[in-house]
Amino acid sequence: MTDYRPDTSGRFGEFGGQFAPETLIPALQELEAAFEVAWSDPGFHAELDALYASFVGRPTPVYHAKRLSQRVGAEVYLKREDLAHTGAHKINNTLGQALLTQRMGKSRVVAETGAGQHGVATATASALLGLECVVYMGAKDIERQALNVYRMRLLGAEVIAVHKGAATLKDAVSEAFRYWVSSVESTHYIIGSVVGPHPFPFIVREFQKIIGTELRQQMSGEPGSFPRPDVIVASVGGGSNAMGIFFPWVRSGVDLVGVEAAGHGLESGAHGASLVAGTPGVLHGSRTYMLQDRDGQVIEAHSVSAGLDYPGSGPEHSYFRDEGLARYVAVTDVEALSAFHEFSRLEGIIPALESAHAVAWVLREAASLKGKTVVINLSGRGDKDVQQVAAMQGDEDA
Ligand SMILES: *Cc1c(COP(=O)(O)O)cnc(C)c1O
Repeated sequence: MTDYRPDTSGRFGEFGGQFAPETLIPALQELEAAFEVAWSDPGFHAELDALYASFVGRPTPVYHAKRLSQRVGAEVYLKREDLAHTGAHKINNTLGQALLTQRMGKSRVVAETGAGQHGVATATASALLGLECVVYMGAKDIERQALNVYRMRLLGAEVIAVHKGAATLKDAVSEAFRYWVSSVESTHYIIGSVVGPHPFPFIVREFQKIIGTELRQQMSGEPGSFPRPDVIVASVGGGSNAMGIFFPWVRSGVDLVGVEAAGHGLESGAHGASLVAGTPGVLHGSRTYMLQDRDGQVIEAHSVSAGLDYPGSGPEHSYFRDEGLARYVAVTDVEALSAFHEFSRLEGIIPALESAHAVAWVLREAASLKGKTVVINLSGRGDKDVQQVAAMQGDEDA
């Protein structure tokens, strides 16, 4: 199995690195060292694996989606991250980093959140382990995501509104970093995806690769297992669910497909497809494909799905893209919404809007997937999106 690391400066080829203020470098070094020690300690793995089994509900099952298979003309399987506790893959990472926080002797975590999903997963892990939890969230997002804000508060987290800038995710990230710098002795920063300065993209990938590692067991093609996949498809926001399922399959001959948000269409400029339509630059501490104008100013992303509404993606995906280790495509809001409805009726599973992007690509590509064995990483369940979709439907009906 491929098991490479970024190089010592945290780079994946020309991507990644550590573009962070001087004041943060010691904290990043401390984190890297703590991770190395924990990751080579069987005691850490025993603790994490026990929580994965009984708190998160791992291994998540693989499900043969028969009606979708019939519709597509391929054998389509789902990796059921939607069944993980809190309804998505994010808990794999927040639980790992919360355990790491304890190991570092810190009592508090800080996180940023956009739609609130990472905030909820962080608040959950913090409650479990008795850590204080501070979540920065754009004031605009707080208004739009009242239910997740309430969830975080129920779980004991302090949610702090950010009024600066556009008062959304990008501004929350900046404030969370600032808070971390000012309280680094007692606080760990739990980043939500395979993004940010080294060692975050590496650490988050290591915690999320449980998805692909389980899948290798579940779809080994051996007797008593499902057949080996030809294609693995996952949505890409920052890229953690995709990297988690891809990584153990890199260079195995399986076609790895990352699906980004084309939003209103790539030509409209209102999308979140940084790997498909962006250019390399520095975003949130690492060099990666991102959406930027000719002066290097970040362009606001757009997607119907909050989890894909991010103007960059992880540096390791940028490396995979340029090396041809995975390929990246994009589907529009309209396609994803249509897949959200069709998939719910076909399979009795309401998918997260993020995951619906992966489903939409499979529906669109049916002709080229004929007869193949395809796995969709069903990164999350759609309960969180039902109200939003209903409201949009209302707009249409009006
Ligand atoms: C947050 C989220 C995503 C996007 O984040 P990645 O880091 O790209 O995985 C995808 N699906 C769901 C259900 C999410 O909550």
